[in-house]
Amino acid sequence: MSVIDNLNSIQQTIPQGVTLVAVSKTYPPDIILEVCNAGQRIFGENRPQELVQKHEQLPDDIKWHFIGHLQTNKVKYIVPFVTLIHSVDSLRLFKEINKEATKVNRKIDCLLQVHIAEEESKFGFSEEELIAFLQLDEVKSALNIRICGLMGMATFTDDTEQVRCEFKSLKTLFDKIKSTFFISNLEFKELSMGMSGDYLTAIEEGATIVRVGSSIFGERAAISKN
Ligand SMILES: *Cc1c(COP(=O)(O)O)cnc(C)c1O
Repeated sequence: MSVIDNLNSIQQTIPQGVTLVAVSKTYPPDIILEVCNAGQRIFGENRPQELVQKHEQLPDDIKWHFIGHLQTNKVKYIVPFVTLIHSVDSLRLFKEINKEATKVNRKIDCLLQVHIAEEESKFGFSEEELIAFLQLDEVKSALNIRICGLMGMATFTDDTEQVRCEFKSLKTLFDKIKSTFFISNLEFKELSMGMSGDYLTAIEEGATIVRVGSSIFGERAAISKN
């Protein structure tokens, strides 16, 4: 199957109202352009430098999502053009995004990353941290960030019931946060969860955004798999 066949068959499984992010990290611009020409406009990257380069090389109407762990010293490179940052996982990062967004007079859409997996290695707020974060004055008063929802990554496991449980718990948390902090705020509406191996489960459990890479583009080289 070609990359375009892959894209088309994935798109057929995605219901209306769910957004597909084609995760293009590690893949070269010419393949991304092919996928773009087939109609896909939203791409996800997890390295600032790679994202900046691809943004320069590829058509202007692509919407670039940042999906990886973001170091504060890299924020300034992506803030001028990024469409959505999925992975805000600390107050420090949040403040830096707000600061850099102010400089370029943008309001950046962001998701707050929640730690739902068993693995230690994955980033994100715990539920308690998230609730404390949302009560901070410096969060509530940040003018150049729009908090649009939550993002999470499930444990990397074949145990589909565990993965489903993790997605369910993130959806429950999303509903609780929505009704506590964003009750009359229509911008808080996105739940980014699900990758190639588990996006259908994620959609069943309430994902509004799925991030699919290898099922579209093919397996990445092991070295850059993250
Ligand atoms: C790489 C990556 C994906 C896509 O993973 P696939 O298994 O290739 O679909 C999704 N989300 C994040 C945060 C990633 O880093």
